[in-house]
Amino acid sequence: MRVLITGGAGFLGSHLSDAFIARGDEVYVLDTGSIVKVRHLLSKAGFHYVHDTIFNLELLDGLAAKVDLIYHLAAVVGVEHYVADPYETLNVNVNGTQNMLKAAYKYNKRVVFGSTSEVYGRNPKVPWSERDDRVLGATTVDRWCYSTSKAVGEHFCFAYHKMGLPVVVLRFFNVYGPRLDRLDVGRVFTIFMGQLLRGADLTVVGDGTQTRCFTYISDVVEAMVQAGLRPEADGEAINVGTEVETSILDFARLMVKLYGPNKSEIKLVSQEQIYGPSYEDIPRRVPDTTKMRTLLGVKPKVSLEQGLKLTIEWFENAQARG
Ligand code: UDP
Repeated sequence: MRVLITGGAGFLGSHLSDAFIARGDEVYVLDTGSIVKVRHLLSKAGFHYVHDTIFNLELLDGLAAKVDLIYHLAAVVGVEHYVADPYETLNVNVNGTQNMLKAAYKYNKRVVFGSTSEVYGRNPKVPWSERDDRVLGATTVDRWCYSTSKAVGEHFCFAYHKMGLPVVVLRFFNVYGPRLDRLDVGRVFTIFMGQLLRGADLTVVGDGTQTRCFTYISDVVEAMVQAGLRPEADGEAINVGTEVETSILDFARLMVKLYGPNKSEIKLVSQEQIYGPSYEDIPRRVPDTTKMRTLLGVKPKVSLEQGLKLTIEWFENAQARG
């Protein structure tokens, strides 16, 4: 099988590329970013790296014609990006997605769209099932543009599905693992990891009682592969995550414990210190994973402790390698 992965040089995409190459499939990665995360694949038979954008329509057309399955993961992600550059977030996540869907529709190629648990916003009723409401703040607050951009992408997916395109929407919940970047910025794992490596204190926002369901990358990749292969997932939005809820304070404590050298302590900081004045945290984020289990046949296997051990070890080795 031939698989196109837009954004395939990113965190999710590079692991997904590994999985398809391991299955013996051919992989085309389309990405504007650095090749660091897929460098190990460049010499593998069947791996193709195309350094270009999803705004190159001619290229998209050619790739869509060539492959059997498309993962659309190319997106602007990460709080630091969508607060700093809302235009780019909206442009890439909305217009870029539309470009990909248009090309896929022309050749009737199955699409798996990488969406996010952010689409639910701050809906206080957890766990969230896929039909639950989106509860968002005002459009004058940039923080919500990412959620909205991904939701518009989803609407396009469902619109194309109505016109006959096989398409699956996956909503990821706090995925972590080796290669997640960037240290010291971005997501809570990478911020804490950077702090541990520097022997700095871990900055827990607020009182640390806010929760997330941290999901290890190998469990997510399994769900992604199944979403690409199973026709029963067509036209569906599916949460991809674990239902195990962890407070950020416990998450920080576990990271400190697993890292070992114990030079870091936990420091409570205000939300403003980390994100500035216009950010709103989500108090709880928990998926209902019934559809992932029934439609994709996937049940997360890696516990937070196991996954964090593997990930911390990877980052320590990466630091040692420079
Ligand atoms: N967080 C924290 N300390 C930090 C960075 C983040 O306590 O230095 C918290 C943040 O307030 C949020 C949680 O960690 O409640 C997860 O944040 P992240 O940016 O990883 O992703 P989110 O799940 O909010 O999209």
